Order: sequence, then structure tokens, then C-alpha cells
Amino acid sequence: MSFSDTVRHSYQSDIEGIKTTGLFKEERYIHSPQSSEIEVEFPVGSQTKKCINICSNNYLGLSSHPEVIAAAHAGLDARGYGMSSVRFICGTQDIHRELENRLSEFLGTEDTLLFPSCMDANAGFFEACLNEQDVMIADRLVHASIVDGMRLCKAMQDTYKHSDMSHLEEKLQEHQDKRFRMVITDGVFSMDGDMAKLAEIVALAEKYKAMVFVDDSHATGFIGKTGRGTHEHCGVFGKIDVITTTLGKALGGASGGCVSGRRELVEMCRQRARPYLFSNAVAPVIVGGALKVLDLISTTTERRDKLEWNAEYWRGLLKEAGFDLKEGHTPIVPVMLYDAKLAQDFARDLFDEGVYAVGFFFPVVPKGQARIRTQLSAAHDKHHLDTAIEAFKKVGKKHGILGLGKKELVAKFAA
Ligand SMILES: *Cc1c(COP(=O)(O)O)cnc(C)c1O
Repeated sequence: MSFSDTVRHSYQSDIEGIKTTGLFKEERYIHSPQSSEIEVEFPVGSQTKKCINICSNNYLGLSSHPEVIAAAHAGLDARGYGMSSVRFICGTQDIHRELENRLSEFLGTEDTLLFPSCMDANAGFFEACLNEQDVMIADRLVHASIVDGMRLCKAMQDTYKHSDMSHLEEKLQEHQDKRFRMVITDGVFSMDGDMAKLAEIVALAEKYKAMVFVDDSHATGFIGKTGRGTHEHCGVFGKIDVITTTLGKALGGASGGCVSGRRELVEMCRQRARPYLFSNAVAPVIVGGALKVLDLISTTTERRDKLEWNAEYWRGLLKEAGFDLKEGHTPIVPVMLYDAKLAQDFARDLFDEGVYAVGFFFPVVPKGQARIRTQLSAAHDKHHLDTAIEAFKKVGKKHGILGLGKKELVAKFAA
């Protein structure tokens, strides 16, 4: 018996420790497809409840789109359920390559390589392309998967203060002795919903001879006039050396990710990136669905336009009701509460009112920065938002927070 009582008790006490910090994550079961309205079982064992969902990454409302589902069925029928192989042995179908070419075209890059997820793309990229002669200079708020990818790479690691361009410039100057410099950022930051200053980053990278890496998972498909991403919005389309992104958010929401960019960097990943070499190929059913998603979003901007309208409308409603928001122009709209317990209670009360959103607090966001992160979708119609705001107002009134700014909120809940 290697899993002795002592070992078990040690883990049990760790788990109890997580519970006492109030950070224990309880799963909620969804009994419906992902959409603007979902059936939620929470707490587990209770009756399911129909809610307006305002916290998914289903930005374009394509997760359950009939044409995407039909294309996924066709992919399943034509090419089978699974590849039972990594890509380089016998896991690459023609449709994988077709999807890679379509992604390159959409993102404005030279080549693309699919990964099982964007987490894997980020885990594999840096180690495959950089070595001990190089330096990685990352924004301090980059996604956890980038942090992990950097850990696996032998290049020197450095950071700059969030979106602080003069700090980035200092770092670039400091590292002029390195072989290669790579500036690393998210396109849209997932917790605050703000955008990287990509035009300035590209200009600095040109001045100080650095490459630019952007993880555009929270932007691909809807940010920019035709939804190509943060680079389109910032006027630097075609100037980003590496873009990683996911199929698991706006692009149908199933799974899969990619590295897209300079031909030679993509080839290095094909040769060396470990999650590409040692994890199974993306299933044909997903490839079929993703190809349809690209058809849909390449022919019309209707969905990203609706999403943009929804996001502005929702921001306006929250502001008018007196909530304290993080400013921005993306479909991520954080309602700031600052206090962790308040964020949890608020989410719970919203659920009772038929609105599903989740409270975020440390360590997902910095201490004292607790919030409800709302996310808009093209699947929302105006009536969903008009109903949801009533719930927000009711719960806001209950907690006495409407009209309070940061100072008052912090003072009220510190007491
Ligand atoms: C969601 C997300 C990922 C992970 O994507 P998966 O495809 O689900 O692994 C990576 N980076 C960022 C910035 C994300 O928001």
C-alpha cells in the first residue's frame, strides 16, 4: 500500500486548506448545448435551472450553430472519429493542412501549425524556437499557458509592467546583447478585457530588432473590422511574427489551437514542438467544424458586428445602473467589486435571479481586484441583456453598491 493513510491525510488536509480560503472550485453541470441560455445544475444534485449565460467564450455564438454542427457531422462521416496517431506518424489528413492554410489566410500569416490546444501551442513554441542565447520579454499579465511555455524554454526570461511601453523599451535596450529578443503579449487580456498596444509594440520591436509574439485567443474571429484579431484592430496586420490562438473560443469553441506566423518559426515547431510531436492530432470532426466556421466568418462580419453592438449596449446598461467597470472596448466587461466574498455572493445571487456569471478573485486576479467578469456573445439578443441588467440591478441594490466607485466599495467591504 503505497497510498497510505498518511499520504491520504496529507492530501486531505491540502484540500481542506483550499476550502478554508474560499477558493474551492465547485463544478456546475450544464445540461444543454452552449448558448445564450443554458440549463444549469448547481449545486450538484439540485433541480436544473434555465439561465442567461453571460460568462462563456462563445463570442460569435458558433458553438452550437446548425451549419457548424452539420459540417462537423460531415467531417465525422467522411474522415472518421479519431486519428489514433500524432500528426507526423499517420495523423495528418488533407483537411488538417486545408485548415492550416485557411487559418494562415485569415490571420494574414505565412504558415500555420495546428496543436491539440492553444495551451499546447504556447507550451511548445518557445522551446522549439529560442535557446540560451535569446531573451523572452513578456507583459506581466500574459496567460498562464505562456508562463508555462516560457518555463520550458532555456532562453532568459524577463517581463515588463503591464502595457508599459517605456518599461518595455528599457528592457529591449538592456537586452541588445542577446542573439534574439522576443516580445510576448496577449492580444486581448482575458481578465481586464483591455488590448495590447500592438502598434507601439511593433514599432519598438522594429527599433530594437525584436520579434513579436501575440496570443490572440480572446480576439481571433471578432476583434478588428473583419474579425482577424488585435493586429487588424491596431493597424499592424501582417507585421506580427507569431500568433497563437485557439479554436476553443470564438471559432466554434470545441478544442484545438495553432501557431501561425513566419514560415521558419512554424517549421521549427513542426520539427521540435513537443505537444505537436507527442500528442494526438486534432479530430476530423473538429477540423470539419472549424473549416465551416472560417467560411462563415470570412463571408460576413454580421456576427462580430452584432457582438460589438451587444458589448457597447451592455457596457452602457451597467454604467447607467451605477456599476464600477473596467474601461475597454472588447466583449469582456468586468464589473469591479474588489472584495472576494462579495464577488462570490454576488454571483450566487445573480444565479438565483436567472443569470449565470462567475466571481473571480485571487489568484485568478490580483488581491483586492475581485470582480464579476461578464462576456458578451453574438448569441445574445437585446432581450437577454435587458433581462440580465434587471437581475444585476436587483442584486446590486441588495448589496448596496450601485453608484459606488472603487474607494467607496473598498471602504464599505473592508469594514
Ligand atoms: C483560453 C486561452 C488559452 C488556452 O486555449 P485552449 O485552446 O483552451 O488551450 C491560451 N491563451 C489564452 C490567452 C487564452 O485565453
